[in-house]
Amino acid sequence: MSKRELVIPSNDLLAINENVIEEIRIENEGFEKQYGRKKKFFIITYGCQMNEHDSEKLRASVERMGYQLTFVYEDADLIIVNTCCVRENAELKVYGKIGTFKPLKQKNPNLIIAICGCMMQQQHVVEEIKKKYRHVDVVFGTHNVHNFPSLLKDAYTQKNTVVQVWDIDGEVIEGLDSHRKYELKAYVNIMYGCNNFCTYCIVPYTRGRERSREKEVILAEIRDLVKNGTKEVTLLGQNVNSYGKTLSQPVSFDELLEEVAQVEGLKRIKFMTSHPKDLSRHVLDVMAKYDNVSSYLHLPVQAGSNALLKAMNRNYTRESYMETIRYAKEHIPNLTISTDLIIGFPGETEEDIEMLIDLIKEVRYDSAFTFIYSQRKGTPADEMENQIPEDIKHVRFNKVLEALNEIIIEKNLQLKDEVVEILVENYSEKDQTLMGRTDGNRTVHFKGDESLIGEFVSIKITEPKKFSLYGEIVEV
Ligand code: SF4
Repeated sequence: MSKRELVIPSNDLLAINENVIEEIRIENEGFEKQYGRKKKFFIITYGCQMNEHDSEKLRASVERMGYQLTFVYEDADLIIVNTCCVRENAELKVYGKIGTFKPLKQKNPNLIIAICGCMMQQQHVVEEIKKKYRHVDVVFGTHNVHNFPSLLKDAYTQKNTVVQVWDIDGEVIEGLDSHRKYELKAYVNIMYGCNNFCTYCIVPYTRGRERSREKEVILAEIRDLVKNGTKEVTLLGQNVNSYGKTLSQPVSFDELLEEVAQVEGLKRIKFMTSHPKDLSRHVLDVMAKYDNVSSYLHLPVQAGSNALLKAMNRNYTRESYMETIRYAKEHIPNLTISTDLIIGFPGETEEDIEMLIDLIKEVRYDSAFTFIYSQRKGTPADEMENQIPEDIKHVRFNKVLEALNEIIIEKNLQLKDEVVEILVENYSEKDQTLMGRTDGNRTVHFKGDESLIGEFVSIKITEPKKFSLYGEIVEV
């Protein structure tokens, strides 16, 4: 790729970008004086929490440049699309979306369209965008978020698409602000990348190898968040359980979790994603020991048979997974468990599906993210010969879903008349209802005043429905 650059990221770049932010802010001020309105930006995010968090950083930086957020893309002077390449469907949606932005350039020739995220880490995607979507002004990768101000500045002066996609694993860039979506809840990256190479997954090729942030930097960020009103943090990484291995002074994830749990004023801590091969008993012990570490465990099993787990290169067995689940259930009070499942992986048999359903019944998940396998270019599973026909995948998917739903509904209905403590997150004007989550990540709706947002309240479950819970306040 002609414009791919092999540059080691350095914190000097942050200083350069700080200057650029100031330059663009001054220009945008001039625009506001001339046209009587601020420039507006629209941002759309596909995919996982890592992408959400990158978008928070981008949003913070463009707001500092003086752009104002709009939810109407037709009104925007800057459009940012943060993409995901984990599923083919998401990629197709992105292409469709980029296409719809083309006519906007006629209305507003100064509109800048920037595309970033995992999809851009794939060379063939960048080539396709350059060839077929010439109205795109900036393309940048997952390792280039910190350099967006400079790329945006270039886009204002260059005719051709500005492209910067580093495919090396850079050092961790610190010092980027985030515009958090919810102030009371915040995502905190503890590491980037993944070393696992599950055969269906594109992430190690797009997000690079594992790099952990220094423990003290993470703790300082969390203390600062708490000082500013955050009550809940989610520690994020593709595989949080292997946190700290690459640091000059290695730290384990349980050590980090224990220190985070001791941050004064922090009410709730969640983490994701855990890999069953790396989740140690020490982590489960810390979950059991501290009240503010959520009793919610997201532990993706993906498949129920050892043959499929091996083909997926997951590096654990059904037996070792169940061993971990048993230990967690024995030691963590009120534990809730969720998982990820892939249906239709190459070579999957009816027997594999039966084994998966058995495992689901044994674990009794509280929720699950179930996906139909889709081939991803550049992954080993894409090359496998024994792909499963789509119609069979769908039949198996429905069968697994039915087994899951039966358990999830049964567990929800058992909560009738129970009193649960929730952190109130949202208020809906429409039906004057508040929404919050329990320590185990269950969603609860109830009537109440908007001022309760950010508070912990006790709710009696009066109406457990199939997939959500309704209740009333018993104590504030
Ligand atoms: S652990 Fe596997 S599925 Fe998860 S990001 Fe790494 S390679 Fe992908």
